[in-house]
Amino acid sequence: MPEVIKQLPEQVANQIAAGEVIQRPASAVKELMENAVDAGSTRVEVRVVDAGRTLIQVEDNGSGMVEADARRCFSRHATSKISSADDLYSIVSKGFRGEALASIASIAHVELKTCHADSAHGFQMNLEGGTTMESLPCAMEVGTQISVRHLFYNVPARRNFLKSDAVEMRHVIDEFHRVALAHESIHFVLVHNDKELFNLREAMLRKRIVGVFGSKYDERLVPVEESTDVVGVKGFVGKPDFARRTRGEQFLFVNQRFVRHHVLHRTIMDAYEGLLPRDQFPLYVLFLTIDPARLDVNIHPTKTEVKFDEDRHIQSLLLPAIRRGLGKYAVAPSLDFEQETGLNIQPLEEGRVVSEPSVQVNPDYNPFAPQHAGGGLRPGRGQLDAWKSLYEKTWNADTGQGVTEAQGTTHRSAVGAGFPEMPFTEAESSSARPLFQLQNRYIVTSTKSGLILVDQHRAHQRILYETLVRQLESDVNQSATQQLLFPTQVDLNAADQLFVLESSTWLAKFGLLVAESEDGIEVQGMPVEGENTPESMILAVLEEREEEVAGVSREERVAARLAETMAVRVGKSLKPEEMVDLVDRLFGCSTPVLDPFGRTVIVTFESNELEQRFR
Ligand code: ADP
Ligand code: MG
Repeated sequence: MPEVIKQLPEQVANQIAAGEVIQRPASAVKELMENAVDAGSTRVEVRVVDAGRTLIQVEDNGSGMVEADARRCFSRHATSKISSADDLYSIVSKGFRGEALASIASIAHVELKTCHADSAHGFQMNLEGGTTMESLPCAMEVGTQISVRHLFYNVPARRNFLKSDAVEMRHVIDEFHRVALAHESIHFVLVHNDKELFNLREAMLRKRIVGVFGSKYDERLVPVEESTDVVGVKGFVGKPDFARRTRGEQFLFVNQRFVRHHVLHRTIMDAYEGLLPRDQFPLYVLFLTIDPARLDVNIHPTKTEVKFDEDRHIQSLLLPAIRRGLGKYAVAPSLDFEQETGLNIQPLEEGRVVSEPSVQVNPDYNPFAPQHAGGGLRPGRGQLDAWKSLYEKTWNADTGQGVTEAQGTTHRSAVGAGFPEMPFTEAESSSARPLFQLQNRYIVTSTKSGLILVDQHRAHQRILYETLVRQLESDVNQSATQQLLFPTQVDLNAADQLFVLESSTWLAKFGLLVAESEDGIEVQGMPVEGENTPESMILAVLEEREEEVAGVSREERVAARLAETMAVRVGKSLKPEEMVDLVDRLFGCSTPVLDPFGRTVIVTFESNELEQRFR
């Protein structure tokens, strides 16, 4: 038998390791920032160009390295942080595997400049794909600067896998946030394409959180602090009324390391039980401190997963700590947690003047006025054909069942259950049929074979959703918009600002016009139909952050969120002509029976059902 096993060259081994440690530019940002923190820096500046594709540069004022260390730091398993396996149980540094620099160097062009206090001058090295191309003395203050250019230049598969700059930059910002939140005593700066996104000076944790998320967050935070001999928890949780429908703002740190821990996340969510609807996520920035001997951080190459000796013990500290925190701030009843709905009323501070909430409205605006309905939207005769074809598609199938709804937790925009009967005959589809409103919520009307109830809010959502999606798909770059006389400023943190601005092109298709402003964005125009404020529209845009969920694009999901905020509210009394308009337009939709989130819009009572009842 010929021998077949050979030792892989170090370069190849490094590239393989890089596959696990460096998945995208953000991973390199994380590793370099962590090295700067480990080096005892008090100021760390991160500069990226093209979301890190072209350049990632991290400069610190930490210990620096002497020449011999600098020459060694790119070798695999080269670390100053541990020297024996036992040290693994007393880790206080971020790094210890000695893999990051070797991995990064193997897949990029790297320049290192470093100067140690004991050295007479700085030292510089240039590497390409892990090979040292040049090394020479340089002028440099104490500290280290590492520049990573052309990441993945020799791994095309990885390079091609990268998402748009906007998405990659969001990952960079996420990693930056994680490190910055964990080390409030270090000054961090993040610059993207020469624009300063964050400049977070040394601060107390609360101020750091506000620096990261924006000044509005100050009032949303509730402090949490509790400890036992074994474990301590400290940090802030968000008041329930500011919870979001995305999980973006949840941070758990263990010994100042950002971790994902499903069980503890659950515990934190459990603390909010009864205070939040199921699909809402509160903010939390919590720090657990635990004896490193009781913790295994070495179960994953990126070290974002950890194992504890005693999950239980930690859970039993965490849950009451958060409840007490929420209780103290009167956002939760501290004794009785059985409450069905949130009790978010806060005691009024003495001397505080309460002003009426102000809402911007256009008093002359009628959402149902025909001129607002948009071109081609008014249902004509054709609507019944659309309805009929849906009816046929849905009920004439062999199974006799409705077409199954698309998968997805919140999104079921596909065709849903239909009716056993057509609700109207052609002749009846005029304003002649009797209509009335029930409980300012349902529109009740008769059909040829019974009675139907339409949920006004959901019906309007469906109508608006289909309109928005149609606008999205059209060639028109900017849909009809209500120009605001005074553009409204919406304060956003840098990450959210980026998020909204990157969407501005397709938001214009919805008629929502946004532009960059100093502390966030400026809303210059809004869709003509619907009840909403610039703030609520922007919040709706921020609700959906993932590119694609269950095959539904972000654009479409934002359309659904917008439709939700724009739709006529439950509790609003409607004029007869508004009801007729709403019902007519609903039946002009391709899927009138479900709102964009898959909830029932129409309930029918067939005459035979009614007869049954009268027996
Ligand atoms: P690890 O962080 O796991 O030790 P790395 O590959 O990230 O491995 O870094 C290797 C070594 O290089 C570190 O242990 C440290 O001694 C040195 N080093 C890396 N970055 C810096 C820096 N910014 N300042 C000082 N020393 C550094
Ligand atoms: Mg490291």
